[in-house]
Amino acid sequence: MQKKTLGTSGIEVTELGFGTLCMGPLQAGLSVDEGGALIRYALEQGVNFIDTAAMYGTYAHVHRALKGWDEPVVVATKTHAVDYAGAQEHIEAALEDMGLDQLDIVHAHGHRIADLLNARADVLRCLLDYKAKGLIRAVGVSTHRVSVARQAAEHPDIDVIHPLINHTGIGIIDGTPAEMLAALAVAHAHGKGIYAMKALGGGNLLDDREANLRWVLDRPEMDAAVVGMLRRSEIDFNLHVARREPVPDAVRARTPVESKRMIVLSYCQRCGTCVEACPNEAISLGPEHAQIDPDRCVLCGYCAPTCPEFALRMV
Ligand code: SF4
Ligand code: SF4
Repeated sequence: MQKKTLGTSGIEVTELGFGTLCMGPLQAGLSVDEGGALIRYALEQGVNFIDTAAMYGTYAHVHRALKGWDEPVVVATKTHAVDYAGAQEHIEAALEDMGLDQLDIVHAHGHRIADLLNARADVLRCLLDYKAKGLIRAVGVSTHRVSVARQAAEHPDIDVIHPLINHTGIGIIDGTPAEMLAALAVAHAHGKGIYAMKALGGGNLLDDREANLRWVLDRPEMDAAVVGMLRRSEIDFNLHVARREPVPDAVRARTPVESKRMIVLSYCQRCGTCVEACPNEAISLGPEHAQIDPDRCVLCGYCAPTCPEFALRMV
């Protein structure tokens, strides 16, 4: 599979990366053994890029996958901390829990925050301090917003942008795919590395997995895309797409489309906690309970653990 260098960072990644959100406790809840084995399988097939985050709960899975693996692997993580001390804690935990001496990329993680780089200035300062110490190679920003991609495009401290982008635009909070790509084109021209999240809309765009993934990988602004994968067949399928090979019928047959949705159960108390937790402004309070807009929901699962009534389920 083709590798690309993330902007001017010097970090070389395969075009297909492994997104670990979906295997963690926010979604599928795979065991450390199951998740670690899946990531390891992807590494064995040539993937060299793993994306995780402090809030995903998948560091142990990554650690298991990397145990005894000698080839170079790029690991990106994210901190949702709101201040310097919190970011420091997240970085130290990432190094410790994944058994790493250095983190390749650490992003400021605040998908719904419109003015992320200013709102998280102290977090950014912490990331830069760790970069100066050689414990982080590149500083990034992870966002669902066009406005943040624009803000990061020419920001001198940002090396890598991890934007939400897909063919339909599902999940982009404040604009269209064309507007996001325009911001990323500016970023690309300024030497920022760019790798996509939610190329398949968090599972909403699986009806044509091949075309939707290819659309993102073929964007000239894009260096790579990380995709959540829960089965070996999905890894095989996506590898064929990333290698620009036809997907064999047998692989296609082993990769069924399983549609999912987030639902609100009737005992919701309308407390509003989930409305605040959703990075995508997909939840509002209806007359009887919270309601989810399926056109905005990217099935990230961030809302469910915040509900004190356990009234949110992915089915
Ligand atoms: S409703 Fe829940 S699953 Fe859907 S985007 Fe919002 S936080 Fe994610
Ligand atoms: S957090 Fe739970 S109880 Fe509160 S509004 Fe959301 S679904 Fe309802």
